[in-house]
Amino acid sequence: MPSNLKKNLLLKSACFIILFSAILLPATNGCISSTNNVSVVEVDCRKATLEYSIPNTPNITTKTSFCSDYMFRPNALGLAIKIFVKEYSNEFNMPEEKIWAMLSGLQIEVSAIPRTVHAAFDVDGKLLKGEVPVNGLALSKSHIWIEAKTSQIWSSALVHELIHVIIWRKNKVHGDPDHEGGQFSGWRKEHTIFIKKMKNILLDMEL
Ligand SMILES: [Zn+2]
Repeated sequence: MPSNLKKNLLLKSACFIILFSAILLPATNGCISSTNNVSVVEVDCRKATLEYSIPNTPNITTKTSFCSDYMFRPNALGLAIKIFVKEYSNEFNMPEEKIWAMLSGLQIEVSAIPRTVHAAFDVDGKLLKGEVPVNGLALSKSHIWIEAKTSQIWSSALVHELIHVIIWRKNKVHGDPDHEGGQFSGWRKEHTIFIKKMKNILLDMEL
């Protein structure tokens, strides 16, 4: 075998191994740019801007929490939101234009660095206190934070937080922080079921 070819093959297998470990350990991002099913990208504010417009959306933007961090590829994020809008429209019988209007101007902050809060409600409305680890936060009706936990969007809290935003824009005063609990209104069991359905759709699309 010519040594160049051999070298090439070796490089390819090494790449495959690194890629495989990248899926298991998202912190290692070897070969990230050579695949199209990786929706997360590493960014560095010293080399590139950290705030991006999501294409084909009403002024939705994305940025990272830190100078050296990870974010979702704007195109992949745009596609995930587009699918979300379509599915939400079908599921909750709401025109797509209305959902887009409710998401307009939204800022999606992404980070690979986990966060904790002092208190949070679980999906059943149970209040959890102390240092509660969260993988997403609806900080306001125009600002959400999402942890990039793996190399794909489906495993993140994107869908969950988009639902909070829609409820918040509808209710005006809150995004129903206690979910299915009875203290705040807006979040229904159907929303929880919808998240599972959406995750499967995004997973099938390798987003
Ligand atoms: Zn929530």
